[in-house]
Amino acid sequence: MIRTHLEDQVALVTGGARGIGAAIASRLAAGGAHVIVNYRGSEDDANAVVTAIHAAGGSAEALQADVADAQATETLFRGVFSEHGRLDILVNNAGVAKDALLATMRDRDWQKVIDVNLGGLQRCTRLALQRMMPARSGCIVNLSSIQALRGGRGQANYAAAKAGVLGLTRAAALEVADRGIRINAVLPGFIETDMTAMIQRRAGDEVLARIPAGRFGTPEDVAGLVLFLCSEDAAYITGQAFTVDGGMSIA
Ligand code: NAP
Repeated sequence: MIRTHLEDQVALVTGGARGIGAAIASRLAAGGAHVIVNYRGSEDDANAVVTAIHAAGGSAEALQADVADAQATETLFRGVFSEHGRLDILVNNAGVAKDALLATMRDRDWQKVIDVNLGGLQRCTRLALQRMMPARSGCIVNLSSIQALRGGRGQANYAAAKAGVLGLTRAAALEVADRGIRINAVLPGFIETDMTAMIQRRAGDEVLARIPAGRFGTPEDVAGLVLFLCSEDAAYITGQAFTVDGGMSIA
């Protein structure tokens, strides 16, 4: 059994209303943490996650903020700090994809993907560290992607942002390891969520043929790894990147 012991801990999951983020929020709450489910537009989904956590005996609340908006994100963190006085776990999960071949990619699709996946993540990390550093403890998990390592046709913006997440994870982990703060990255493969639904409809069989495990990943597959990284059993792990892809990246 993983030693979670997240009781009395406060966790913030960005983009926690749907997909991988919702599964992570539920697992952290089941592990005992009070979970703040951040959402940008999916208020009903965020409330449904919170309701399900309460029904399972856990503790959670939903808070709106667009992590690409500096002011909104600062307001989010100020609210968390003033309400709870602490932040123990941050999961930088919010992400978007806007696929196009680079030669014809619009500036705004490049910028949007960088602003949310990398800009929002660095801002949330910075704001969390301002509270974690004086507390001399904390855990941050960043959602990258196997596309950070492989590229991906039509995904120059996404691959660049997710590769940036790996660099940020290592540099930031180095800066704060002596303060008792751990920062790791998770690289999912092809996980069944709204983000991949279109690709699955158009080329599901082709993608499946490239997954040695013989199935698509589920949000729970990723959430289990994130819970482990937030647990006491991962106390000596920092600055690392963990792939969860059913073997896709080694095929
Ligand atoms: P998803 O189903 O599309 O959900 C994305 C989540 O991010 C939503 O909850 C969305 O919230 C939130 N979000 C988007 N922009 C935001 C913003 N500006 N501010 C706050 N929240 C925002 O995606 P997913 O598949 O669960 O992906 C979760 C993470 O895993 C992403 O970082 C993604 O890049 C990464 N990932 C996914 C896969 C995969 O195969 N699915 C593979 C590798 C990596 P709203 O609905 O409220 O806008």
